[in-house]
Amino acid sequence: MNARIPGKDSALVIGVTGGIGSGKSAVAEAFGELGIDWVDADHLAREVVMPGEPALAAIAERYGPSILQPDGTLDRRALRSRIFDDAAERRWLEAETHPRIRQRLEQRLARLRRTGAPYCLLVSPLLIESGQHELVDRILVVDVPEAVQIQRTLARDGVEHRQVEAIIEAQSPRARRLAAADDVIDNSGNRQSLHDQVARLDAFYRQLASSPNRHDTPP
Ligand code: ADP
Repeated sequence: MNARIPGKDSALVIGVTGGIGSGKSAVAEAFGELGIDWVDADHLAREVVMPGEPALAAIAERYGPSILQPDGTLDRRALRSRIFDDAAERRWLEAETHPRIRQRLEQRLARLRRTGAPYCLLVSPLLIESGQHELVDRILVVDVPEAVQIQRTLARDGVEHRQVEAIIEAQSPRARRLAAADDVIDNSGNRQSLHDQVARLDAFYRQLASSPNRHDTPP
């Protein structure tokens, strides 16, 4: 065990959350440039339904082979239309996938804790709603006004305006996320501003990781 980490539970984990297009990935990459690693809950959600995974087999059994694409991967659009407007089916799907996502999250975080880095990130759009916040020491919210969120998501994904609005509608309201935040990055500015805020938080988290009092407030 690394000398800087006195015990498994003492390694600092920062939960990074925010709505679609708020800049979670950009924030994670900026921390990455400073030598910090992360686990992305969205990635794991895709991993648990890859070919060969038990959750994909269960989905194919429930909805039939038409839920798969010719190459055997999940047809996400078809699945979305199955669970859209059907709370019972959504619950069934969540019961199949969420425990597996959670298990992988815990495994990856345990691995990251062993690297000897002062802290690591758990990046998740549903950090608070899914209970994943239980796995983190602090919550960092990436915040932008809705107009910026829509504009950046449209530019990134090339989807329709109303689709982005529907996703935002389904996610936690901005005020609720902010109320749960220990730290906030205002990502309404340019990339330099984002990097400056990440550098400040990085210094703070490194200090926090080496101090016994983790309930400090940022500078
Ligand atoms: P999320 O992971 O929260 O969905 P992303 O990190 O993918 O959001 O950011 C959404 C889009 O906005 C991406 O195309 C990203 O490159 C861009 N972006 C992020 N932060 C900024 C910024 N400060 N200025 C300009 N574009 C940004």
